[in-house]
Amino acid sequence: MTGLDHAPALVLNADFRPLSYFPLSLWSWQDAVKAVFLDRVNIVSQYDTVVRSPSFEMQLPSVIALKDYVHLSRRPAFTRFNVFLRDRFTCQYCAGRLPTHELTFDHVVPRSRGGRTSWENVVTACGVCNLRKSNRLPREIGMIPIAAPRQPTAYDLLDHGRRFPPNYLHESWRDYLYWDIELDQDDADDPPRAAAGPAF
Ligand SMILES: [Zn+2]
Repeated sequence: MTGLDHAPALVLNADFRPLSYFPLSLWSWQDAVKAVFLDRVNIVSQYDTVVRSPSFEMQLPSVIALKDYVHLSRRPAFTRFNVFLRDRFTCQYCAGRLPTHELTFDHVVPRSRGGRTSWENVVTACGVCNLRKSNRLPREIGMIPIAAPRQPTAYDLLDHGRRFPPNYLHESWRDYLYWDIELDQDDADDPPRAAAGPAF
């Protein structure tokens, strides 16, 4: 079967953090399928590619999460990808679903107004909404997040991952390479080019 060598699975810890970033934790499709059969992983996303044997067939996993490495009750890592996944890659102000490179982060209560960088105060936003909201409070500009931001559970993230069409997460997981920095960085929610022009 052609193409299988190009179907590695991204391996996430049970807290949805990649096992390693450098090199990125990728398993061969054979190892990923084996781990599925041994019930050691949850499948988060799949390729369209199907492998068949006389006794089974399955879509190859593209993103898998270990079940036991970190207990699932532990809090998911506060990372860019997990905020996007919690918010279903959807701008929490205009409901637009966008590819990851067009998404930004917004502090609901702006940092300049004392807002913290936390699960409860950071939401996914498109660039337009991020610029529009600027440093205002939600009630000041009438931009209320669609879902009140909160700390997700690992189960929430698994559930959200399963709702995506096949390949959606596969197409975005290479961005994990750039998301090893947790969100409590100063520039976490600065929209692209925000400093280049006036907010409106
Ligand atoms: Zn938006």
